[in-house]
Amino acid sequence: MATERTFSIIKPDATRRNITGKIIDRLESAGLRVVGQKRIHMTKEQAEGFYAVHKERPFYNDLVSFMISGPVVVQVLEGEDAIAKNREVMGATNPKEAAPGTIRADFAENIEANSVHGSDGPDTAKTEIAFFFSDGEIVG
Ligand code: GDP
Repeated sequence: MATERTFSIIKPDATRRNITGKIIDRLESAGLRVVGQKRIHMTKEQAEGFYAVHKERPFYNDLVSFMISGPVVVQVLEGEDAIAKNREVMGATNPKEAAPGTIRADFAENIEANSVHGSDGPDTAKTEIAFFFSDGEIVG
């Protein structure tokens, strides 16, 4: 298994409830290392661009509004098999279907306000990291 990097967002429902540390603890405890991190308030244009792949989905406008409803923490995570490992620690999109002990099972409010984002494959990880981070902002 190779060392990989993946992109993560701690979403506005989590920053609002001041539980970013609890979420980072889950990531670090799973062996993921935070090699890039910043707290930002996404612009509408950034949120629309980031989620452009979902443009045709019925929840797109709601999702964009939610993602700009408060600050988020964007992260680059590094580790063995980081992309799959992060998805495992996050749990299923819908917290009702998320495995016990996962971030979404324990912290998500609902299918939209589900506390975290994680890249779903190597190509998206690369694109999503580059969307928010310059090379100099990632320190391994
Ligand atoms: P993810 O990869 O597990 O984050 O899931 P998706 O890529 O399918 O969806 C992206 C994000 O859109 C999710 O994390 C949710 O915040 C939101 N989302 C997904 N499905 C729904 C839905 O059915 N309704 C609403 N309101 N939001 C959704």
